[in-house]
Amino acid sequence: MNWDEMADCHGDVHRVPALLERVERDEDDAEAWDELGYRLLLEEEWVFPAGFAAFPRLVRLAARSDRARGLAGSIMRCAAGGHGCDDLLAECAGAITEFRTLLDRHLRSRPADYLAAYRALLAVEEEYHWGAVIGDFSDDFYEIDCPHCAAEVTIAIGGYGRYSAIRDWHLGDVDRRALRPASPDDLSGTGRWMHATAVRDGRQTLADGIACLFGQAECPRCASVFTIADEYAASHRPVM
Ligand SMILES: [Zn+2]
Repeated sequence: MNWDEMADCHGDVHRVPALLERVERDEDDAEAWDELGYRLLLEEEWVFPAGFAAFPRLVRLAARSDRARGLAGSIMRCAAGGHGCDDLLAECAGAITEFRTLLDRHLRSRPADYLAAYRALLAVEEEYHWGAVIGDFSDDFYEIDCPHCAAEVTIAIGGYGRYSAIRDWHLGDVDRRALRPASPDDLSGTGRWMHATAVRDGRQTLADGIACLFGQAECPRCASVFTIADEYAASHRPVM
Protein backbone atom coordinates (compact mmCIF):
# COMPACT_ATOMS: atom_id res chain seq x y z
CA MET A 1 0.00 0.00 0.00
CA ASN A 2 1.46 3.34 -1.02
CA TRP A 3 0.20 5.49 1.84
CA ASP A 4 1.88 8.57 0.37
CA GLU A 5 -1.08 8.81 -2.03
CA MET A 6 -3.77 8.03 0.52
CA ALA A 7 -4.92 11.37 1.82
CA ASP A 8 -7.26 11.46 4.78
CA CYS A 9 -9.96 14.08 5.40
CA HIS A 10 -7.33 16.50 6.64
CA GLY A 11 -4.95 16.04 3.75
CA ASP A 12 -2.47 14.03 5.83
CA VAL A 13 -0.97 10.76 4.62
CA HIS A 14 1.00 9.49 7.62
CA ARG A 15 -1.46 9.57 10.52
CA VAL A 16 -3.81 6.79 9.33
CA PRO A 17 -1.16 4.05 8.95
CA ALA A 18 0.23 4.96 12.37
CA LEU A 19 -3.24 4.85 13.91
CA LEU A 20 -4.03 1.51 12.27
CA GLU A 21 -0.90 0.07 13.81
CA ARG A 22 -2.03 1.33 17.21
CA VAL A 23 -5.48 -0.27 17.05
CA GLU A 24 -3.99 -3.48 15.67
CA ARG A 25 -1.77 -3.63 18.73
CA ASP A 26 -4.50 -2.59 21.15
CA GLU A 27 -8.09 -2.67 19.89
CA ASP A 28 -9.22 -0.81 23.04
CA ASP A 29 -7.19 2.29 22.16
CA ALA A 30 -10.19 4.65 22.16
CA GLU A 31 -8.13 7.72 21.35
CA ALA A 32 -6.72 6.11 18.20
CA TRP A 33 -10.21 4.94 17.14
CA ASP A 34 -11.66 8.43 17.60
CA GLU A 35 -8.92 9.96 15.47
CA LEU A 36 -9.30 7.27 12.80
CA GLY A 37 -13.04 8.06 12.69
CA TYR A 38 -12.58 11.70 11.85
CA ARG A 39 -9.66 11.11 9.51
CA LEU A 40 -11.34 8.44 7.36
CA LEU A 41 -14.83 9.95 7.16
CA LEU A 42 -15.96 13.54 6.99
CA GLU A 43 -19.28 14.13 8.76
CA GLU A 44 -20.07 10.41 8.38
CA GLU A 45 -20.84 11.27 4.76
CA TRP A 46 -17.66 11.50 2.75
CA VAL A 47 -14.95 8.88 2.59
CA PHE A 48 -11.42 9.74 1.56
CA PRO A 49 -8.73 7.58 -0.14
CA ALA A 50 -7.29 6.65 3.27
CA GLY A 51 -10.69 5.18 4.17
CA PHE A 52 -10.62 2.66 1.33
CA ALA A 53 -6.94 1.97 1.94
CA ALA A 54 -7.70 1.21 5.60
CA PHE A 55 -10.85 -0.82 4.89
CA PRO A 56 -9.27 -4.31 4.50
CA ARG A 57 -7.37 -3.88 7.77
CA LEU A 58 -10.53 -2.73 9.55
CA VAL A 59 -12.37 -5.81 8.28
CA ARG A 60 -9.63 -8.02 9.67
CA LEU A 61 -10.20 -6.43 13.09
CA ALA A 62 -13.99 -6.37 12.77
CA ALA A 63 -14.64 -9.90 14.05
CA ARG A 64 -13.48 -8.92 17.52
CA SER A 65 -13.78 -5.13 17.54
CA ASP A 66 -17.11 -3.23 17.52
CA ARG A 67 -15.26 -0.03 16.65
CA ALA A 68 -13.64 -1.63 13.60
CA ARG A 69 -16.96 -3.11 12.45
CA GLY A 70 -18.73 0.24 12.91
CA LEU A 71 -16.08 2.17 11.04
CA ALA A 72 -15.91 -0.34 8.18
CA GLY A 73 -19.72 -0.16 7.96
CA SER A 74 -19.67 3.64 7.80
CA ILE A 75 -17.09 3.51 5.01
CA MET A 76 -19.33 1.11 3.05
CA ARG A 77 -22.34 3.39 3.52
CA CYS A 78 -20.33 6.21 1.91
CA ALA A 79 -19.04 4.05 -0.95
CA ALA A 80 -21.85 4.74 -3.42
CA GLY A 81 -19.92 7.11 -5.60
CA GLY A 82 -18.74 10.66 -5.98
CA HIS A 83 -15.62 9.93 -3.93
CA GLY A 84 -13.34 9.55 -6.93
CA CYS A 85 -11.89 6.33 -5.50
CA ASP A 86 -13.48 3.71 -7.75
CA ASP A 87 -10.13 1.99 -8.30
CA LEU A 88 -9.49 1.76 -4.56
CA LEU A 89 -13.03 0.48 -3.99
CA ALA A 90 -12.45 -2.21 -6.63
CA GLU A 91 -9.34 -3.33 -4.77
CA CYS A 92 -11.49 -3.82 -1.67
CA ALA A 93 -13.62 -6.52 -3.36
CA GLY A 94 -12.14 -9.39 -1.33
CA ALA A 95 -12.45 -7.50 1.95
CA ILE A 96 -16.04 -6.55 1.10
CA THR A 97 -16.94 -10.23 0.58
CA GLU A 98 -15.33 -11.05 3.92
CA PHE A 99 -17.21 -8.18 5.58
CA ARG A 100 -20.53 -9.41 4.15
CA THR A 101 -20.04 -12.82 5.79
CA LEU A 102 -18.99 -11.22 9.05
CA LEU A 103 -21.98 -8.86 9.15
CA ASP A 104 -24.42 -11.67 8.39
CA ARG A 105 -22.98 -13.75 11.23
CA HIS A 106 -23.13 -10.72 13.54
CA LEU A 107 -26.80 -10.09 12.67
CA ARG A 108 -27.69 -13.71 13.44
CA SER A 109 -26.31 -13.19 16.96
CA ARG A 110 -29.06 -10.53 17.44
CA PRO A 111 -26.68 -7.83 18.69
CA ALA A 112 -27.52 -4.52 20.40
CA ASP A 113 -26.25 -2.60 17.36
CA TYR A 114 -28.47 -4.61 15.01
CA LEU A 115 -29.72 -1.69 12.93
CA ALA A 116 -26.25 -0.25 12.28
CA ALA A 117 -25.00 -3.66 11.14
CA TYR A 118 -28.14 -4.20 9.02
CA ARG A 119 -27.60 -0.86 7.30
CA ALA A 120 -23.95 -1.72 6.71
CA LEU A 121 -25.01 -5.00 5.12
CA LEU A 122 -27.43 -3.13 2.84
CA ALA A 123 -24.54 -0.92 1.71
CA VAL A 124 -22.34 -3.98 1.14
CA GLU A 125 -25.12 -5.31 -1.10
CA GLU A 126 -24.96 -1.95 -2.93
CA GLU A 127 -28.44 -1.02 -1.74
CA TYR A 128 -26.98 2.32 -0.73
CA HIS A 129 -30.24 4.25 -0.68
CA TRP A 130 -31.74 1.75 1.80
CA GLY A 131 -28.53 1.60 3.82
CA ALA A 132 -28.74 5.37 4.20
CA VAL A 133 -32.37 5.67 5.17
CA ILE A 134 -33.75 2.55 6.86
CA GLY A 135 -34.65 3.30 10.47
CA ASP A 136 -36.09 1.12 13.19
CA PHE A 137 -39.63 2.05 12.11
CA SER A 138 -40.45 3.52 15.50
CA ASP A 139 -40.95 6.91 13.87
CA ASP A 140 -39.91 6.85 10.20
CA PHE A 141 -41.03 9.17 7.42
CA TYR A 142 -40.43 9.13 3.69
CA GLU A 143 -41.19 12.03 1.36
CA ILE A 144 -42.26 10.86 -2.06
CA ASP A 145 -43.64 12.64 -5.09
CA CYS A 146 -46.79 10.98 -6.37
CA PRO A 147 -45.86 9.45 -9.76
CA HIS A 148 -49.24 10.48 -11.17
CA CYS A 149 -49.96 14.01 -9.92
CA ALA A 150 -46.54 14.96 -8.46
CA ALA A 151 -48.04 15.91 -5.09
CA GLU A 152 -45.54 15.61 -2.27
CA VAL A 153 -46.78 12.68 -0.23
CA THR A 154 -45.56 11.93 3.29
CA ILE A 155 -45.32 8.25 4.13
CA ALA A 156 -45.31 7.47 7.84
CA ILE A 157 -44.27 4.07 9.13
CA GLY A 158 -44.08 4.27 12.87
CA GLY A 159 -45.55 3.43 16.21
CA TYR A 160 -48.39 5.94 15.88
CA GLY A 161 -49.44 5.16 12.37
CA ARG A 162 -48.73 3.73 8.97
CA TYR A 163 -50.22 6.04 6.43
CA SER A 164 -49.79 8.29 3.44
CA ALA A 165 -50.74 11.92 3.96
CA ILE A 166 -50.23 15.47 2.80
CA ARG A 167 -48.03 17.27 5.28
CA ASP A 168 -49.33 20.62 6.36
CA TRP A 169 -46.92 22.63 8.48
CA HIS A 170 -49.77 23.99 10.60
CA LEU A 171 -52.21 21.11 10.68
CA GLY A 172 -49.78 18.18 10.60
CA ASP A 173 -50.34 15.15 8.39
CA VAL A 174 -53.78 15.60 6.85
CA ASP A 175 -55.93 13.45 4.59
CA ARG A 176 -54.37 10.24 5.84
CA ARG A 177 -54.80 6.96 4.00
CA ALA A 178 -53.79 3.63 5.51
CA LEU A 179 -50.83 1.94 3.83
CA ARG A 180 -51.29 -1.42 2.14
CA PRO A 181 -48.38 -3.58 3.34
CA ALA A 182 -47.04 -6.21 0.96
CA SER A 183 -47.69 -9.80 1.87
CA PRO A 184 -44.29 -11.38 2.59
CA ASP A 185 -45.05 -14.05 -0.03
CA ASP A 186 -45.44 -11.35 -2.67
CA LEU A 187 -42.11 -9.68 -1.96
CA SER A 188 -39.30 -10.21 -4.41
CA GLY A 189 -35.70 -9.17 -4.86
CA THR A 190 -34.28 -6.72 -2.35
CA GLY A 191 -37.50 -6.37 -0.38
CA ARG A 192 -37.81 -10.12 0.04
CA TRP A 193 -34.23 -10.45 1.21
CA MET A 194 -34.49 -7.48 3.61
CA HIS A 195 -37.74 -8.84 5.08
CA ALA A 196 -36.48 -12.42 5.39
CA THR A 197 -33.28 -11.27 7.13
CA ALA A 198 -35.25 -9.25 9.71
CA VAL A 199 -37.65 -12.18 10.33
CA ARG A 200 -34.77 -14.62 10.65
CA ASP A 201 -33.21 -12.42 13.32
CA GLY A 202 -36.43 -11.88 15.27
CA ARG A 203 -36.81 -8.19 14.33
CA GLN A 204 -40.57 -8.15 13.81
CA THR A 205 -41.01 -4.34 13.87
CA LEU A 206 -38.31 -4.00 11.25
CA ALA A 207 -39.86 -6.78 9.15
CA ASP A 208 -43.34 -5.21 9.36
CA GLY A 209 -41.90 -1.81 8.41
CA ILE A 210 -40.20 -3.33 5.37
CA ALA A 211 -43.49 -4.97 4.33
CA CYS A 212 -45.06 -1.49 4.43
CA LEU A 213 -42.15 0.12 2.61
CA PHE A 214 -42.36 -2.43 -0.20
CA GLY A 215 -46.14 -2.27 -0.17
CA GLN A 216 -48.48 0.29 -1.65
CA ALA A 217 -49.72 3.74 -0.75
CA GLU A 218 -52.62 5.78 -2.01
CA CYS A 219 -51.99 9.39 -3.00
CA PRO A 220 -54.34 11.55 -0.89
CA ARG A 221 -54.61 14.07 -3.70
CA CYS A 222 -55.36 11.98 -6.80
CA ALA A 223 -56.18 8.59 -5.21
CA SER A 224 -53.76 6.71 -7.45
CA VAL A 225 -51.92 3.81 -5.85
CA PHE A 226 -48.18 3.27 -6.12
CA THR A 227 -45.46 1.07 -4.64
CA ILE A 228 -43.60 3.12 -2.05
CA ALA A 229 -40.18 1.48 -2.43
CA ASP A 230 -40.19 1.80 -6.22
CA GLU A 231 -40.91 5.52 -6.12
CA TYR A 232 -38.46 6.16 -3.29
CA ALA A 233 -35.68 4.19 -4.94
CA ALA A 234 -36.26 5.85 -8.31
CA SER A 235 -35.61 9.28 -6.86
CA HIS A 236 -32.89 8.39 -4.32
CA ARG A 237 -30.79 5.67 -5.91
CA PRO A 238 -27.28 7.11 -6.14
CA VAL A 239 -25.75 7.90 -9.49
CA MET A 240 -22.94 5.38 -9.85
ZN1 LIG B 1 -51.27 11.85 -6.80
